[in-house]
Amino acid sequence: MTEHVLDNLLKNYTDLITRVDEHIQRLARIHKDRLACKKGCDECCRHLSLFPVEAFALSRAFSRLDAPCRERVLDQAHQTNRACPLLVDHVCMIYEARPIICRTHGYPLYMEKEGRAMVDFCPKNFKGVKKLDRSDMLDLDRMNTLLTVVNSHFTACFEDVLPDRIPVDQALELYQSL
Ligand code: SF4
Repeated sequence: MTEHVLDNLLKNYTDLITRVDEHIQRLARIHKDRLACKKGCDECCRHLSLFPVEAFALSRAFSRLDAPCRERVLDQAHQTNRACPLLVDHVCMIYEARPIICRTHGYPLYMEKEGRAMVDFCPKNFKGVKKLDRSDMLDLDRMNTLLTVVNSHFTACFEDVLPDRIPVDQALELYQSL
């Protein structure tokens, strides 16, 4: 598969990323005094499992890293700790292409479980804040629905059945294996 073909297949995903980033940038402006998230804080960089569309996008970004960096990440992927293998010296090696969960982590996420409204965010953020406005949160269920639709369109373009989820360590070299 050429890069051009994959770019076309990933178009819906990159459009969704643009929308998520716009929303996150708005939340970052609104909550700027309440967020502890900053470069170098990597506590939420755990080893993830991704939808195929995100796994391929991540793998394409990985393929563009220089060879020593790729080797270091692959070495880390063979270790069994729970940190994401793309984390090197506390920095994400594919930050611009990081998955959606990495973009939204730490921000206030609104969700409903068994009919109950819930909000989740990094405990380092929003210290002392008693109440958050619903409009200042990201609707997690809505975002997941959009990502599921985008992923379904993506996987339908492949003759082979792709797994439902792909761990980051198994995603790294997907693009180069096409
Ligand atoms: S892809 Fe990057 S931002 Fe996401 S968990 Fe891995 S190192 Fe962290």
